[in-house]
Amino acid sequence: MHFTEPVYRNPYWPTWPLLEVTRGCTHNKCKFCTMYKGVKFGVPTMETIEEDLQEIANAMPHARTIQLLSANPLALPYDKMAPILEKINEYLPEMEHVYTAGRVTDLRNKTVEQLRALKDLGLNEISMGTESGDDWTLERIDKGYCAADIIEQCAKLDEAGIRYWHTFLNGAAGRSHSREHAVNSARVFSQTNPMVVGTGGLTLFPGTPLLEEAQRGEYDPLDERGLLEEVLLFVENLTCNCSFITHHTIGGVNLTGPDFLGRKDDIAAALRNEIEHGDLDRMARLRAMTRSL
Ligand code: SF4
Repeated sequence: MHFTEPVYRNPYWPTWPLLEVTRGCTHNKCKFCTMYKGVKFGVPTMETIEEDLQEIANAMPHARTIQLLSANPLALPYDKMAPILEKINEYLPEMEHVYTAGRVTDLRNKTVEQLRALKDLGLNEISMGTESGDDWTLERIDKGYCAADIIEQCAKLDEAGIRYWHTFLNGAAGRSHSREHAVNSARVFSQTNPMVVGTGGLTLFPGTPLLEEAQRGEYDPLDERGLLEEVLLFVENLTCNCSFITHHTIGGVNLTGPDFLGRKDDIAAALRNEIEHGDLDRMARLRAMTRSL
């Protein structure tokens, strides 16, 4: 198999098979991310992709799922993506479910009809690293799109019948815009129809511009209490029914699961309880030990 380091896969999707159809990230500018800093964006040849598909077909001829790598294979234009999906179906004829990650901007170069055609070829779930629905925050972390883009591009996915995930980057706005980040993200995400909304607390990793800005006093990161208060505000304002995933560890209550609206009150109550009684120092120590995603 041909893989370019670092290999990151969505941990909630089937772990194998994985197929590298792009290398690196087309954007590579988000201020909190160093994941693909040393990798120039590239696309393997179809011959290379076919070699990997043959290996997968030899090992797992009945594979029904596959996850495309790396940061945003969705950036491939339709006339590059469709032939890859056709090859996947040729080598793995029982394929049902192709997973990929993508950026909001990756959808701009595809029409609804093209997205429908990709779905017919098996592309039916996209994880979007949306991070925020607040324009100030999106600009602050250099995501390269605005809230209106999220609503416009996700409407195309809805029309095409492709399921998608949003992530809420808890803490991305720092202290000064925490409220706007939470409320506007919930408002914008609620105008779309995500299958999953996930939240993860921001960790300032070495080498990121955001950490350097924090060290210069130009960025005011939230502490653990502030992170929890922000995710609570986000939850209180989120009104779309979806599955909800959080990386927050809340003693005794599993906040991750389907039917967000049915569980919303319980999730909010657990977060309030954690803010009041949780071991926030321990959470801070655990975060300080994290070195990368
Ligand atoms: S967060 Fe995603 S889109 Fe942003 S630079 Fe990292 S891999 Fe690229």
